[in-house]
Amino acid sequence: MPPRVSIRPHDEPPPWRMPVLKIGQHHGISLQIAFETLYIIFAHVYGFRLPAPYNYLFFFFHTVIKFPEVIYVDAMTSNWFGRNVENLRKAGFSDLQILLIMNSNCINSQLLGFLMMNYVCTDPEIFSLSYFYAHFNATMILRILASLALSETLFCAAHSLMHKNEFLAKYHVMHHCCVCPTWTTNLVFHPLDLSMEFGGPALGLLGLHFGVFQDQATFLLTYLIFQLWYAYDHEPYLNLYHIQHHQQCDSLYVIYTNFRGDPKHNRSRGVMQDMGLQWPSLHSKKST
Ligand SMILES: [Zn+2]
Ligand SMILES: [Zn+2]
Repeated sequence: MPPRVSIRPHDEPPPWRMPVLKIGQHHGISLQIAFETLYIIFAHVYGFRLPAPYNYLFFFFHTVIKFPEVIYVDAMTSNWFGRNVENLRKAGFSDLQILLIMNSNCINSQLLGFLMMNYVCTDPEIFSLSYFYAHFNATMILRILASLALSETLFCAAHSLMHKNEFLAKYHVMHHCCVCPTWTTNLVFHPLDLSMEFGGPALGLLGLHFGVFQDQATFLLTYLIFQLWYAYDHEPYLNLYHIQHHQQCDSLYVIYTNFRGDPKHNRSRGVMQDMGLQWPSLHSKKST
């Protein structure tokens, strides 16, 4: 059996302090989210589009070499990732399985972006700021809003199905082992769950692009916002509604509003309770 990584006790302070720009009492922008935002934009706009074979080398760096950095930063700046790993172990996952699943999710989700930047956004002109300066208008804004409304609807449908269906609820529990979400939670999904909750909305955006708008510049902006949109929801300092969904495994299936479904159809919570998984106090701070 491979050795287990030791986890810091919950009451021991983490070795590093994450710099955070506070926004009001409950929200903030961390250095990590600022860096990852710029990096994700750079990867899609520049790295994935390098001439071959440098684009493949960049993809390897992006998904394999850089992958441990996200885990390391989470582990050094808070005890939340450790708490999530404790739950994943209780749910029967070994540390090696957790790492392999997270890395394969990273590769698969980023492969979608790689393919879209190379085979959908094929006009090099749309990658310049001057293009957007000349073409950014009300039509583009409306198309982006319509695309995001579609992706949110598809996400909500897939997410509520993962909670309400007895069979699928078992596969959603892996994600809900992250009772204290952090940036790494973006990668903790059963592959079936990720393909429904991320792949489904991404295919919806593709369908809208090819079937209706046929506008590469709009698709590029939409896909970048979409990527970041579903990464920010697990960022504990930003502290959006989805954080509460993880802390309580409640029936809040949408990401950016406080509209809740009927709790009596929520099967995932029962599956978690049967496994003996625990929820933290709502007032837990990320540093503890
Ligand atoms: Zn959920
Ligand atoms: Zn989540």
